[in-house]
Amino acid sequence: MEQYDAAYGDELVSADRRHIWHPYANTDGNSPLFPVVGADGVRLRLADGRELIDGMSSWWAAIHGYNHPELNRAAHAQVDTMAHVMFGGLTHPPAVRLARRLVEITPEPLTKVFFADSGSVSVEVALKMALQYQRGRGRPERTRLLTVRGGYHGDTFGAMSVCDPVGGMHHLFSGVLPTHLFAPIPPAGFAAELRAEDTAGIEELLDRHGATIAAVVLEPIVQGAGGMRFHSPAYLRRVRELCDVHDVLLIADEIATGFGRTGALFACEHAGIAPDIMCLGKALTGGYLTMAATLCTDEVATTISRGEGGAFMHGPTFMANPLAAAIAGASVDLLLAGPWRERVAALSEGLRTGLAPARELPGVVDVRVLGAIGVIELAAPVDMSVVQPAFVEHGVWIRPFGRLVYTMPPYVMSEADLTTVTGAMVDVVRAHT
Ligand SMILES: *Cc1c(COP(=O)(O)O)cnc(C)c1O
Repeated sequence: MEQYDAAYGDELVSADRRHIWHPYANTDGNSPLFPVVGADGVRLRLADGRELIDGMSSWWAAIHGYNHPELNRAAHAQVDTMAHVMFGGLTHPPAVRLARRLVEITPEPLTKVFFADSGSVSVEVALKMALQYQRGRGRPERTRLLTVRGGYHGDTFGAMSVCDPVGGMHHLFSGVLPTHLFAPIPPAGFAAELRAEDTAGIEELLDRHGATIAAVVLEPIVQGAGGMRFHSPAYLRRVRELCDVHDVLLIADEIATGFGRTGALFACEHAGIAPDIMCLGKALTGGYLTMAATLCTDEVATTISRGEGGAFMHGPTFMANPLAAAIAGASVDLLLAGPWRERVAALSEGLRTGLAPARELPGVVDVRVLGAIGVIELAAPVDMSVVQPAFVEHGVWIRPFGRLVYTMPPYVMSEADLTTVTGAMVDVVRAHT
């Protein structure tokens, strides 16, 4: 095993600062940056030997923790068989196995799977499916998308166009970005009672523009990167009804919520509804490789296939990459074979208890928990140059953004480690906000 030390870490960081962009970052080189050289279970190992308990699951993805023996085994077996092969005119066991599995576990009417290479691409695919579907049934005028404020769907142009217009900084790309319709933010609270006025905004937009709308796209139950907000199953059910009334498709972006994170295998299950198109990503490969999937109904697929062009117009080079698909298949099996529901419920309980003291702190606006997601919402944005090193000092990896200090731990996290994570969140918020 290689030996690392603080000097080696410093060298990595300074070389990085000369050449590399990071997510949503500038190249000033002033943001804190930590060199990580290994990861095992729920722990990240820094170059200087320190270990951090991971509270982020690498952005919702690493649900089983890092360096998992079963996922490693699947990766090794597949890489020694066939790391990649083009998907045009060819198929392979990992893709077939994974597609069957996804169709089996997602809501019933979803039967067709398009493998994409990232969440954003799977959203692009979903939007294109909706547009080609409407053309295919002789409704080419249905080109607009309707979404809710506060959403996040990815960073490519189509996906970005349905992100929250303010949070997504649409003005930076005005003139290029298509303009779609935005309904008010869904009413806050998983358990909130649905009042008529809560859906008045979306109903009015559908009444006025329904004939030109191809699809409604939203994140069911949990809006992730757009603000970590929860809404009720009743709201989602109402949106499904409205889509049916207006003959509009419903696209559920379950890239963050899929695979158990909210306490249901898929967030749509809370409402007992099925979308016409569903996007999956993030936890799909257990955090090992980039892969996403867009599922749709027979009706959507058939209409597109019989429509103009006779084909769906998308086909990434690395579509259905066998290595990613093999690991994804192993990850889904691992999830379903284990007591994920109990694990997520236990984490939920731990988050509720552990984060409760934050409610009393000045500067805290809200503390909320759903499934294995815990959020402290502040009145003002955190200062990352102070807060990020403070979390590392506490031995945990939490990556706040804006006014949100939040965690979505790997499902395998122990009660003791979760207590350390929530304790650090409360301490850091107390000391630095
Ligand atoms: C992360 C995310 C995406 C984008 O996925 P990438 O893999 O980062 O492109 C889209 N939608 C939601 C809800 C997400 O959380």
